[in-house]
Amino acid sequence: MSVSLVCTVCNKPYEGRADRYICTHCGGSVEPVLEVSPARTDLIAAIRRGSARAEGIWGYRAFFPGFEEIEPVTMGEGGTPLYRAHALEKEYGVSALFLKNETLNPSGTYKDRFASPMLSLCRAEGVSSVALGSAGNAGSSVAAYAAKAGIPCYVVLPEGGVFARAQQAMSYGARFIRAKGEVNDCIDLIEKGVSRYHWKNACTTMLHNPLASEGYKSIVYELFEQMGETVPAAVLCPIGGGILISKVYRAYRELVALGLADRMPRLFGVQAAGCQPVVWAMEHGARETPVWEEPHTIAGSINDPVTFEGVTALHVIRATNGAAVAVTDEEILAAMRLSASREAVLAEPASAAAIAAAKKLRESGELKEGESCVCIVTGSALRDLPLFAGAGPESSAVRPDHIEDLDEAFARFSF
Ligand SMILES: *Cc1c(COP(=O)(O)O)cnc(C)c1O
Ligand SMILES: [Zn+2]
Repeated sequence: MSVSLVCTVCNKPYEGRADRYICTHCGGSVEPVLEVSPARTDLIAAIRRGSARAEGIWGYRAFFPGFEEIEPVTMGEGGTPLYRAHALEKEYGVSALFLKNETLNPSGTYKDRFASPMLSLCRAEGVSSVALGSAGNAGSSVAAYAAKAGIPCYVVLPEGGVFARAQQAMSYGARFIRAKGEVNDCIDLIEKGVSRYHWKNACTTMLHNPLASEGYKSIVYELFEQMGETVPAAVLCPIGGGILISKVYRAYRELVALGLADRMPRLFGVQAAGCQPVVWAMEHGARETPVWEEPHTIAGSINDPVTFEGVTALHVIRATNGAAVAVTDEEILAAMRLSASREAVLAEPASAAAIAAAKKLRESGELKEGESCVCIVTGSALRDLPLFAGAGPESSAVRPDHIEDLDEAFARFSF
C-alpha cells in the first residue's frame, strides 16, 4: 500500500504489520494521511460542488487516499437526506434536532459507505472471496456489494444476533456461518480463516481495513453542505466498534484544516446500558475500554463488548469536549416509536439510541437552549418491525359484505 498511515491519537507514522493496523505506540487507530495542502482546491471544490452529494460517496473521492485509480463498485450509496425533526424538538425541548437518514442507503445502513470502497478495492485486487464477522449490518452490507462485484462472500454472525440481518445477507447470496460468542469472536474467526481459506478480511474496522473505512467520512462532508457550511453544536453517534465516531471526528478535522469549518462539533458517543464499555471508560478516566461482560441489549448492532477502535473513540470524545451516554432499552424503544410515528423515520434500535440520547443530553443540560444537534440514524428498522407497538392484527378480518365488521374494526380506533 503506497498510502502512508498515521496514528490519530499520537500522530506517529505507522510502522507495524500490514494485516492488523493499530498504533504500536499507543493502541490508537491508524488512518491514511490526507495531504490537504496540495489538493486543497480539489477538496474544497468537492465539498462546494452542489452535485457532489447526488453522486454519493464517490463525489468525495478526492478525500479517500488510495482510490485515485479505482473503478467503484457502487449502488448510489451516500447522498442521504438530512431532516429537521420538528416533532422530536418539541417533544424533547431541543432547539434544533436533525436526523441524518442513513437508513436510505442501498442495504439499509451507513455501512454501505464502507462496503462500496471495500469491494471496489477487492475487485481491483482480484480477490477470490471476502469474509467478515459482524453484529449483522456489516454482514448484509458487504454481502450486497460482494453480490454486485460478483465475489463470493462469507458472513459470520453471533448465534444470538438479530436473525433478520443474516437473512438479508443470505438473500444477497452470502454464505452464512453462525458462531458462538459475540461479534469480536466472529472477527477473530475471520482472522483465522484468512490464511486457511484465502479469504480477504472485509471486517468493517480500521484495524483491518483503514482505506475502505475512509468512506464513512462522507457523512460529514454531506452534513456540512446540507447545513449551509455550518457546524452543529453536537453530533450524536451510536458506538459499537467506535469507527463511526472516529471518522466523524476525522472528517470535521479535515474541514477545519481546509478552512471551511470554523470549529469542531462536540462529539457524543451513545451506547446501550447493557453494553457500555466506552461510557465506563469515560466515567473512570480510562484511556482504554474494558471488555464488557455479559452484554445484553435490543440494540444488537452496537452490542460490541470489545471496542476495536476504543482508544480512538475515547480520544475523539475528549478532544471535542463531548461525552459518552448510555440509554436503556426502554428509552431506545420509546425513541424508536416516536421517530417512526412522528418523523416517519424507521430507526433500528442502535440508531434510536442516538435519538434517545438527544433527549437525555437536553435533560441533563449538556445540550443547551439554542444548541443544534445531529443524530446519525445509522440503520433501518425495516428489519425490526416486530419491535414496534401494534404490529400484530388484533381482530378477525373484515368480511366485505358485512359492514358491521368494518364498524367494529373502526370502533377500535375511536377513543
Ligand atoms: C455498526 C453500527 C453502528 C456503530 O458501529 P461503529 O463500529 O461504532 O461504527 C451503529 N449503528 C448501526 C445500525 C450499525 O450497524
Ligand atoms: Zn499512537
